[in-house]
Amino acid sequence: MSHGDSLVPPRDHPFRLAAHSADRTPGASKESASIELPRLRLRLNELQDLLYADRRFALLVVLQGIDTAGKDGTIKSVFQEVGPLGCSVASFGVPTEEELAHDYLWRYHLATPGRGKFGIFNRSHYESVLVERVHGLAPAERLKQRYDEINHFEATLAAEGTVIMKFFLHISRDEQRGRLQERVDNPHKRWKFREGDLDERKHWAEYETAFEEMVSRCNTVVAPWHVVPADHKWYRDLAVARALVERLEGLDLRYPEPPAGIQGRVVE
Ligand code: AMP
Ligand code: MG
Repeated sequence: MSHGDSLVPPRDHPFRLAAHSADRTPGASKESASIELPRLRLRLNELQDLLYADRRFALLVVLQGIDTAGKDGTIKSVFQEVGPLGCSVASFGVPTEEELAHDYLWRYHLATPGRGKFGIFNRSHYESVLVERVHGLAPAERLKQRYDEINHFEATLAAEGTVIMKFFLHISRDEQRGRLQERVDNPHKRWKFREGDLDERKHWAEYETAFEEMVSRCNTVVAPWHVVPADHKWYRDLAVARALVERLEGLDLRYPEPPAGIQGRVVE
């Protein structure tokens, strides 16, 4: 089985969340993951080194998911062996006044990784068809056009050497209830609690529709959406790490040819 591809929904019909249960753990057990995930983390670090030496590609990892879906947790877990030299995280919150004065893609484009680097988007340009759609923060006409515009944006990045891997962390409504309750009850998690998260939860159905349309319309070959069952954190991390390692290994990354005349030189 191709682990990475199996998360990518078929492109020939509209994506429906109801057909994807969030608590699936296909092809893994918690025990096997406790051995496989540490290996994948180390491999990811080797691949980052190689990507840096090779210099043909950048890797853009896009993480989306409803509040508490585990975007931060995934980053902490999957990339914990990847050194800070070649990897950066950009987190996107409510746009600033300056960001709002620009086109909606501006702040995301500015944060894309250069060749040789991993760049992780913690939330992303997809917020412009998620929160902005659910709350009507842009004119309806413009919202409709954004899907194609995003596909063009990603196609441009891909043509210029950016490998794009998009992960939608899919949790169930009941799992979110438990995680929000935990933020209320656990003193070490209380700092994460936002009153606004409870208001957003009331829009669950609208977010589901927005996520479905996002996956249906922007699941392109150059920038596929991976739908990750994320009720189980161990499976979520394993699935993301597997997909990334598989994609990077498929790039045939190489160390550059040594400069002429270096072979056999002796350093005095
Ligand atoms: P957090 O990820 O918990 O730090 O929260 C970031 C907040 O920023 C979330 O409530 C998002 O909905 C919000 N946000 C992110 N991007 C946008 C955007 N383009 N427009 C409005 N709100 C946004
Ligand atoms: Mg939050």
